Amino acid sequence: MSIELNILPIQKWLNFDSHPIIISGPCSAESEEQLLRTARELSQIPNVRIFRAGIWKPRTRPNQFEGVGNIGLEWLKKVKQESGLLTTVEVANPKHVEEAIKHDVDILWLGARTVVNPFSVQEIAEALQGVDIPVIIKNPVNPDINLWIGALERINRAGITKLAAIHRGFYFFESSPFRNAPMWEIPIELKRLYPALPLFCDPSHICGNKDLIQSVSQKALDLEMEGLMIESHYNPDIALTDANQQITPKHLANIFSKLVIREESVTGEFETKLDELRTEIDKLDAELIDILLHRMKIVEEIGEYKRDNNITILQIKRWSEIIKNRLAHGIKIGLNRDFLLKILQLVHKESIQKQTDIMNKGKK
Ligand code: PEP
Ligand code: MN
Repeated sequence: MSIELNILPIQKWLNFDSHPIIISGPCSAESEEQLLRTARELSQIPNVRIFRAGIWKPRTRPNQFEGVGNIGLEWLKKVKQESGLLTTVEVANPKHVEEAIKHDVDILWLGARTVVNPFSVQEIAEALQGVDIPVIIKNPVNPDINLWIGALERINRAGITKLAAIHRGFYFFESSPFRNAPMWEIPIELKRLYPALPLFCDPSHICGNKDLIQSVSQKALDLEMEGLMIESHYNPDIALTDANQQITPKHLANIFSKLVIREESVTGEFETKLDELRTEIDKLDAELIDILLHRMKIVEEIGEYKRDNNITILQIKRWSEIIKNRLAHGIKIGLNRDFLLKILQLVHKESIQKQTDIMNKGKK
């Protein structure tokens, strides 16, 4: 079920036409000096147009630094006056909304921990009734696109049409090089459902370190995202939160200079070539699906045979051989081992399920 969102094009509420738009600034506001120094350096980078800073910080454990509170909003006013950058802060409850608006913050954002909770989002939506301010909504911590959409809907229904989303990765129980797994298919699906919704990427919280920011930023731009939110600090080593992933403005300028900004929609000769390749992919996918069906039919026949002859479904020796042979062949012709292994395991799981169904039916 998808409800239309009433979205004002981003060009109508951000009156600059930089692409990509970069939102940058520290994870947390720590001091006036830190904000002004960082903002001064950031304002030299052409595409940085919005300054971020966490004023109230959601921390896993109490007694950690939980943000400087309202005084930071006064510092942000100075940042705006001095640097000309717009400002944005995270709001997690109606009180934050009220304070941020009172202190002329330009854009509000909802963090990943807030978006998981519809009660919190609803309270914020109610506090935003009748207020004309842009709101950016991060994805929830867990990979649930409906929670993300639900938050967008609640805020939109409160009358906020200056709306955007931020992809900041998702909690994932398996270890990965990322702090939060990107699971790109989720933001892609959001874009498919709401093509008018501006989508940003937050490589800092996806990566959790400085090294992967360049490649994640490039990937986001290649997926036609509107812009990036990247944490920066004039001296990341002394940062009170997220020190590992914050970069200096100079480092950000360097990353930005290496980004390849590709055209959004290709025309003419490229389009023809792309169409040809896509037709080829469509054909191959259709064949792949037919082959899978064929394989499942044979699996069923084997299942019936096993049932009639009282043979167990899982025969570990045969399965080990399959894995060994198929992987050896796949790797030899250039397929990625992990990818192939995952596919084989998935197909095997479905085959076992099919044969279990046959056995159970046979018993009736
Ligand atoms: C942040 O932007 O500093 C932050 C807390 O992010 P997230 O909500 O994505 O964890
Ligand atoms: Mn952070």
